[in-house]
Amino acid sequence: MKRIAILGSTGSIGTQTLEIVRENPDLEVVGLAAGTNIDLFEKQVREFRPRLVSLRDEAACRDLKARLADLEVEVVCGMEGLLAIAEMEESEVLVTAIVGMIGIRPTIAAIHKGKDIALANKETLVTAGHIIMPLAAEKGVSILPVDSEHSAIFQSMQGENRERVSKLLITASGGPFRGRSRKQLENVQLEDALKHPNWSMGHKITIDSATLVNKGLEVMEAKWLFDMDLDRIQVVVHPQSIIHSMVEYVDGGIMAQLGTPDMKLPIQYALFYPDRRPMAGKRVDFYELGNITFEKPDMETFAGLKLALQAAAEGGSVPTVFNAANEKAVSLFLDRKISFLQIPEIIEMCMDAHRRIEHPDVEEILRTEQETYELICSKF
Ligand code: NDP
Repeated sequence: MKRIAILGSTGSIGTQTLEIVRENPDLEVVGLAAGTNIDLFEKQVREFRPRLVSLRDEAACRDLKARLADLEVEVVCGMEGLLAIAEMEESEVLVTAIVGMIGIRPTIAAIHKGKDIALANKETLVTAGHIIMPLAAEKGVSILPVDSEHSAIFQSMQGENRERVSKLLITASGGPFRGRSRKQLENVQLEDALKHPNWSMGHKITIDSATLVNKGLEVMEAKWLFDMDLDRIQVVVHPQSIIHSMVEYVDGGIMAQLGTPDMKLPIQYALFYPDRRPMAGKRVDFYELGNITFEKPDMETFAGLKLALQAAAEGGSVPTVFNAANEKAVSLFLDRKISFLQIPEIIEMCMDAHRRIEHPDVEEILRTEQETYELICSKF
């Protein structure tokens, strides 16, 4: 029996993780945390019977306690709740399926307690990779990638000598606006940006895919996960999303992981690594597929990717500013308060205004996040 806890159980990754639990009786859920979706959360608690659960705010927790009065479950709340679930004695793996930098402190807490991390919450590594990766190494904890690209790279490295890797090739679908000019992006609406061609995901990452910011975050994530210099990470647009990413070795050989776009595969791989379990679902039919194609990303039109690479190269606190500015800008776009093209403009404004900190600690990262939010709020 493998015991897991999930932060963000009501989201896209969280619900798919629970589907895997349903299909694998040797997985047991001991802790669950979510934000505001109390109806779904109550159903999850009743079905999976974790010992400890948490919601974001006090009122929701009181409501949840009343609803679950007939069960033996402890309800905790807010950041304290996330930390309690991250650290819980009986869990072995923490699935970080929460969205945004709020995942930093619980992830660090879980590593301190020796839990392996099935990491979906890329914002944590982007902003605090310099703290998390050395800490995980010190504590002997595995950081198992859930993001499909990073899982593909991880899978393509199995049985290989990592010293012999020459390059990581991160594939990108290009999002719903691939091939459009800047002019054509001026009036795109929220509904258009939410239509991802291949993947069904939460709103924030879907917008990040449309701006290509997601690919930039993934480059930063890969840098930390695989300890790779930025000039050895290349983004390749591959609209069919069949090759999930590739690793080139020093002899020119390239290993790739392919499959239909389904997040359950990388989630399940992280949970059972190094084993592979059977999984139902559509298989790649190469006769039906026909062509797969590749392109260079258009970083002039999709300035979010260019800014991400710039932030990654500058390092220190700059990726935090990039990420925080993007989180806030995306939330303004989701509330229809700014246009699509204002997302990279806001990121650039925040990066320009920031005074870089070389090795930010967690407090400095969170302060930088706050300052970035305040700067944006003072203008929008
Ligand atoms: P969703 O928006 O679908 O889900 C986010 C989850 O986090 C929800 O359960 C939400 O709860 C919960 N949450 C949000 N804020 C809080 C909070 N303050 N306290 C507690 N819980 C909170 O996101 P995704 O599942 O799409 O993404 C999760 C992470 O995984 C992101 O970092 C994303 O970049 C990454 N990722 C996602 C992929 C995907 O296919 N979706 C692919 C690769 C990576 P509630 O809904 O109840 O408010």
